[in-house]
Amino acid sequence: MGNVGGKGLSLARRLYASRALGLVLGLLCVSAAMYPLNPAPWVWGVMLFNGLLWPHLAYQWSRRAARPYHAEHRNLLVDAFMGGFWVAAMQFNPLPSATTISMMAMNNVAIGGLRFLLAGTAAQILGIGVGWLIFTPLFIPETSQLQLYACLPLMCFYPLALGLICFRQAHTLGLQKRELLALSRTDSLTGLLNHGAWKDQLEVEFQRCQRQPQGGAIALIDIDHFKSINDTYGHVAGDIVLRQLSKILRQNLRATDVAGRYGGDEFCVILPNLPLGSAAAVMEALRERFATLGYEQSPALTVSLSIGLAAFNPSHTDATRWLNDADQALYEAKTSGRNRVICCGDGRPEHELLDSV
Ligand code: GH3
Ligand code: MG
Repeated sequence: MGNVGGKGLSLARRLYASRALGLVLGLLCVSAAMYPLNPAPWVWGVMLFNGLLWPHLAYQWSRRAARPYHAEHRNLLVDAFMGGFWVAAMQFNPLPSATTISMMAMNNVAIGGLRFLLAGTAAQILGIGVGWLIFTPLFIPETSQLQLYACLPLMCFYPLALGLICFRQAHTLGLQKRELLALSRTDSLTGLLNHGAWKDQLEVEFQRCQRQPQGGAIALIDIDHFKSINDTYGHVAGDIVLRQLSKILRQNLRATDVAGRYGGDEFCVILPNLPLGSAAAVMEALRERFATLGYEQSPALTVSLSIGLAAFNPSHTDATRWLNDADQALYEAKTSGRNRVICCGDGRPEHELLDSV
């Protein structure tokens, strides 16, 4: 319901300025066509009301409505009905009539597509019918010079205003689309890439490694005994730990490294163009830094990380196998005592690997 209200209100706001402009210019066009016909005072009254007061009344009516979108739909139908009414009242004077009808058709199709165009056309025909009954018009096939000039402001400025409204709308939608795309790729707690977005990057990196000889490594990082951190210090403290890890990841990695949250307390990193030994050194530094962090709210809290690393291997037939290697290394880090970095296929802690390089 809230969405319907928001959508309707923003539509009402957008239409307010364009309706006020369109109808005041329309008043100029219609009154020039009506003047030679000597209309009754009540007709002048309706004309002035329609051109000057109705846009403001329509806006207030929509704003206060329980369902502003429906109210604005009704207002557009009133616009179309009155447009038809003035076409009959002007005795079908060709240029003012065509201008009124085409501007309204443009308005309706821009706002609500073919459905609004059809509904608006029906309301216009009804308006013509009512106007016909009241004025029993003749057909005036001539448009005077003055009447032509009186139509020009509407013909020139109204399409400009409507075009601007549509452009602004498209521009806003473009921005929102980009924001939504970024949101759909981001983990809301840590601001890192989420599982799906990171996997997409892994696929890209895998294909790059297949083409280029530099290679690269991936790391899976899991917080040790995170469940008991949650149980002991609460989930809010757990969330703070997760955010701290993402912060340390951002600080310790190169701009070209790609960090993500794989899910729960598990994080993942792509380290392009880095030999396994160097990648292991980076992860070791990260593990040490994270282990020495203090937490203001829970001074007794210490957290360690288990990290599994895997280098790209040309024998990998797909990115999942590469990821499996890192998973296997992480499993070994967990089963061999946690709080350590293990490289795939090695089974030895990282410092032993560094010694052997
Ligand atoms: P291990 O050392 O083997 O990794 O044990 P663990 O307790 O870290 O692993 P386990 O998979 O048993 O527990 C992970 C916990 O992470 C369970 C889940 O409730 C918690 N968790 C997952 N997502 C979030 C989150 O967004 N916030 C918090 N606070 N906890 C989370
Ligand atoms: Mg864990």
